[in-house]
Amino acid sequence: MCGIVGYTGSDIAKNILVTGLKRMEYRGYDSSGVALEVGEGAAAHLDVIRRVGKVVGLESELSNIDSDATCGIGHTRWATHGKPSVVNAHPHTSCDGRIAIVHNGIIENFAELREELEGRGHHFKSETDTEVFAHLIEEAYVETHDLMASVREACTHVVGAYGLAAVCTDEPGVIAVARKDSPIVVGVGETGSYVASDVIALIDATRDVAVLEDGQFAKLTPAGVEYTDEAGNVIEPKVTHIDWDLDMAEKGGYPDFMLKEIHEQPRVVRDTLVGRMTPAGELDIDELGLSLEELNDIDRVYVIACGTSYHAGLIAKNLIEGWARIPTEVEAASEFRYRNPIITPTTLVVAVSQSGETADTLAAIRDARIKGAKVFGITNVVGSPVARESDGVIYT
Ligand code: GLU
Repeated sequence: MCGIVGYTGSDIAKNILVTGLKRMEYRGYDSSGVALEVGEGAAAHLDVIRRVGKVVGLESELSNIDSDATCGIGHTRWATHGKPSVVNAHPHTSCDGRIAIVHNGIIENFAELREELEGRGHHFKSETDTEVFAHLIEEAYVETHDLMASVREACTHVVGAYGLAAVCTDEPGVIAVARKDSPIVVGVGETGSYVASDVIALIDATRDVAVLEDGQFAKLTPAGVEYTDEAGNVIEPKVTHIDWDLDMAEKGGYPDFMLKEIHEQPRVVRDTLVGRMTPAGELDIDELGLSLEELNDIDRVYVIACGTSYHAGLIAKNLIEGWARIPTEVEAASEFRYRNPIITPTTLVVAVSQSGETADTLAAIRDARIKGAKVFGITNVVGSPVARESDGVIYT
């Protein structure tokens, strides 16, 4: 899971951004970064600082920078497209470097958009899906000279999920925000306006947060926030009063993380399916790495996993047998690898590992492939061993 934070006001932005990013660390991430607005007029530019690894690394780099910027955006990234690296970390910038964005979610049509944008002369610096947003906004800005309008325009081209915050040196102090299928909250505190993907990042500043709905936009300035719909009409957002303390807020208002995660399951399933459903509501998993014929020939499924992934597999057994009528066994990878399971070329092995590194699961994958099975990995880490060694992979 990833995090967005943004601030515009009269305080030093870098401190607020780092505090917000640290608050969201519990969600997990692989890299982080900020963009700070510095200078004025012709000298105005964005300082973009990004680091792989923990936010403390970014924090120490920022502590060496004497920045009195009062507007900026920050991000913790969990890679979905492109490995965890400094160039792939957010914020991403437009060709001219005058626009920077942070994004949570997945842009499904990024490959087409990227090709089109490159065809029109845009130069891409990262492997992410996110970067197309920076270039789309840049193109729209040439016409509109209005950041909020350009973000709105860019969103009309994007298919997928996004929580997005953008800044532009030509509009100092403005943060333009958009949301679709990825949470965004906005609040106004004593010294300025805040945006985040999780209330925990802004409860120091305010307890009254506007929870954006899909298709809603927010334009933050130091003086306040204007909310609009897709057509640009001004709207009243839904404001929620948060009375949790910090500890509860970290757990989304639940007494413990386990309960929070149980309640998050429907959303997590929904998020995982976003980008894999056709407009007609059919599932389209082209990451499967199997042709339709191969899929039709499958006559036995093993779900191999350890720990919690094993328990998730038990649910998969019910679903696969119930829907596909294919005999499915769930096995602890540590057992599977040491016995001699019946595996043929029409066997599908589904290997589940959150980290993508679980040693027993990895050994079981290798074994299954040697015996001729098709192996499909489910993991949360791009480029992990499970991802690399499976015939197909789906990232959660
Ligand atoms: N899809 C984007 C990327 O891979 C955003 C990932 C995130 O939500 O952190 O860079």
